[in-house]
Amino acid sequence: RQPIIAIDGPAGAGKSTVARQVAAELGLVYLDTGAMYRAITWLVIQKGIALDDECAIAELAHTCKIELTPSQDLKSPVRVWIDDVDVTQEIRTVEVTSKVSAIAAQTAVRQALVNQQQNWGKKGGLVAEGRDIGSHVFPDAEVKIFLTASVSERARRRQQDFKKQGQPEVSLEQLERDIAERDWKDSTRKVSPLQKAADAVELQTDGMNISEVAAQIINYYHQ
Ligand code: C5P
Repeated sequence: RQPIIAIDGPAGAGKSTVARQVAAELGLVYLDTGAMYRAITWLVIQKGIALDDECAIAELAHTCKIELTPSQDLKSPVRVWIDDVDVTQEIRTVEVTSKVSAIAAQTAVRQALVNQQQNWGKKGGLVAEGRDIGSHVFPDAEVKIFLTASVSERARRRQQDFKKQGQPEVSLEQLERDIAERDWKDSTRKVSPLQKAADAVELQTDGMNISEVAAQIINYYHQ
């Protein structure tokens, strides 16, 4: 199979932008696994299902259809559909972001989505980004990167993302609180918590721009 590059790390570490750039430069397909957890969360909210109704959510996770465009066009967002509804923008709202960790902590949800990710990755040729890619989804990935940055740097980056997406402005203090809370939830959950794989390279990206981080990853890939 073709190579797989796994990029994991906490919220706002720059994984998406970096992963897309690396995929475009190496001619690989970009897989945003966070978008899948966000899409299910959107559907749960849409259907008025309680966040702790694990049975109903498990059923939904096993029956819904998630599609992502394997877009190489760095200027337009990767489009995301769930059950044929385009939710590209809806999955980035503050509401979905605040609820996604509770959904992503459910075993059945992870089973369904990891299964789909592994099917997509059978032939390789992917840059996959998330929390458990190197440790759990693709443990035999050729390159494993763990991207980090300080909470304040990540909050600043998120604020800029929101601006670009035309979303309502959120204060830096609020973003820092949200990020710290999501870090805590993602790294203390029982199933596949956010964790650096033993054989991953850790990149601390404070003060680095996207191109510098992408160049480093491509460097590891060629080594
Ligand atoms: O990366 P992003 O912020 O879009 O991820 C949203 C949420 O999805 C994370 O906070 C985490 O709870 C969950 N997630 C996960 N495993 C992944 C990717 C995302 O649990 N591989």
